[in-house]
Amino acid sequence: MPTSRYGRVLLVGLVLLTAVALWQTRDGTPALALVNAHPQRVMGTDCTLVAAVAPGDIARAQKALEAAEAVIRDVEARMSVYVEASELSRLNRAVAGENVPLTADTLGVLRIARDAASKTAGAFDATCPPVLLLWKDAGERGKRPSEDALSAAREATGWTRFELTSSGAQKKMADARLDLGGIAKGHAIDRTVGALKKANVKAGLVEIGGDVRVFGPGPKGQGWAVHLRHPFRKGSCGTIELQDAAVCTSGSYQRFTEIEGQRYSHIIDPRTARPVQDVPSVTVVAPDCITADIWATALSVLGPEGLEKLAAIDGLEALLITGRPEDFAIHQTPGFARLLRDPLRLE
Ligand code: AMP
Ligand code: MG
Repeated sequence: MPTSRYGRVLLVGLVLLTAVALWQTRDGTPALALVNAHPQRVMGTDCTLVAAVAPGDIARAQKALEAAEAVIRDVEARMSVYVEASELSRLNRAVAGENVPLTADTLGVLRIARDAASKTAGAFDATCPPVLLLWKDAGERGKRPSEDALSAAREATGWTRFELTSSGAQKKMADARLDLGGIAKGHAIDRTVGALKKANVKAGLVEIGGDVRVFGPGPKGQGWAVHLRHPFRKGSCGTIELQDAAVCTSGSYQRFTEIEGQRYSHIIDPRTARPVQDVPSVTVVAPDCITADIWATALSVLGPEGLEKLAAIDGLEALLITGRPEDFAIHQTPGFARLLRDPLRLE
């Protein structure tokens, strides 16, 4: 979980619904009130919202945080495959050729997901559920899927199996499915930052399950400090300083299935229909969170070679850790190295 320089303040917020602390200037006068909230069970994980406002604006900030939480829950209600009534679940249940009406926001995310498939050379593929389900089933049975099952699942994926219209989407084949698990969190964070800014909150932080976006000046006028999760054990392996940016981490160390004594990541390589291996952690910094979310998943698939593709896009920086605890390698863009406060601590 990321903390900011107000580590103590965030801890207080874990106990209370919203907590407030006054950030002191050097001469002791309160400069900013830090109002924070920790909505429970958001997108299946933890969440931290922080609004930094003038001390006279605390009540307004609390209202803004309540509205921000509603924005996240709205995205979850429409885009989660775990919510039966979501727009995405309805589309997944639809028969081929049925036009499923979608809200502009959901349709917008589907368009971004479709574009991401070509920008990442097929590494990010939201049409991958046939492959995900095959490996979920394999995990439950404790047996690796057969070659035939793998090629059938791979054949069942791809954006040619969907048509996006101006008001909704259609499946072209009955077995086509979508999963926005690699993108919806980033989108929810972006929308939440937008809602806070609209409510005239000039600086703050939104975090869901370790993915973060910060905006406005940090408490002392410079950046916000965000801790990076250690890929192989509990705790942090470094701290980056961010200003008006997002950071997302994808990691197989967090979520995996064990089959026949081997660990398999929750991220699959759409090109081979197999879970990715040997990339335990990818962290991406981007101007917005949906982009960081997409690329953290995509680089988990592409590995260090993917850094070249990422370098061609302005404002993106990445850190990849490959290998195993006893034999790992660090790959990072020069810009990522500059964001690090101190050298990484991976031993
Ligand atoms: P993240 O933790 O952001 O990397 O997202 C991983 C989630 O995205 C998984 O739990 C799946 O729901 C989905 N997913 C897995 N592999 C891919 C992929 N190659 N492209 C897009 N989504 C994926
Ligand atoms: Mg992602």
